[in-house]
Amino acid sequence: MPNKIRVTVWNEFIHEQTSDDVKKIYPHGIHHAIAKFLAENNDMQIRTATLQEPENGLSDHVVKDTDVLIWWGHKAHDKVDETVVNRVQKRVLEGMGLILLHSAHESKIFKRMLGTNCSLKWREAAEKERLWNIEPGHPITQGIGEYIELPHAEMYGERFDIPTPDKIIFLSWFQGGEVFRSGCCWERGHGRIFYFRPGHETYPIFYNREIQKVITNAVRWASPRIFLENFCYNAKPIEKLK
Ligand code: ZN
Repeated sequence: MPNKIRVTVWNEFIHEQTSDDVKKIYPHGIHHAIAKFLAENNDMQIRTATLQEPENGLSDHVVKDTDVLIWWGHKAHDKVDETVVNRVQKRVLEGMGLILLHSAHESKIFKRMLGTNCSLKWREAAEKERLWNIEPGHPITQGIGEYIELPHAEMYGERFDIPTPDKIIFLSWFQGGEVFRSGCCWERGHGRIFYFRPGHETYPIFYNREIQKVITNAVRWASPRIFLENFCYNAKPIEKLK
């Protein structure tokens, strides 16, 4: 068995401690729910980290010991320390995978990696969402049919202010009429980045087996092939120059 994929599931962990409705759905926090289904895979080893921990749970040691970082945040994006954002960005450029879920679209790290506002349109009306699998050959969509249907979801609509993804793999339709690029892949440096839309705190979306399958596939896709530190040097010519 080759080395396991070292996964860190990061959560700001605020809604689950302040709202009874959220606590009912995710009594131990969203990070715990995600860690639990990922831990079913014997090629992965899972740890969790939260905003409240020292260095937001992402010390230099933790980040260096992570192959894929999963990010869920909503209420407290601005509370994430700049030092931590710098550290995570550097590690993604070196090869670490980064998976951003739902409201992580507004996180400092997502905006840092992509360089745009990452803003969107939203509505909370428990409407139906159908995520169309438009890249059935992609590693992240393996085991997923033509679409995933979520009976109750928060709506995210275009325009989503992101740089054009290297690949869009899910496209959402909402009952209210909007569409959204719900599964987007980028490469930055040696790292792979995946944004996946579902996951609002008052819907039990992280218990949906298809959503779990997508996140599991995404961990394997985003796991690093190489870690390479940034360097820039003066090179001697290989051939003799006149
Ligand atoms: Zn939400």
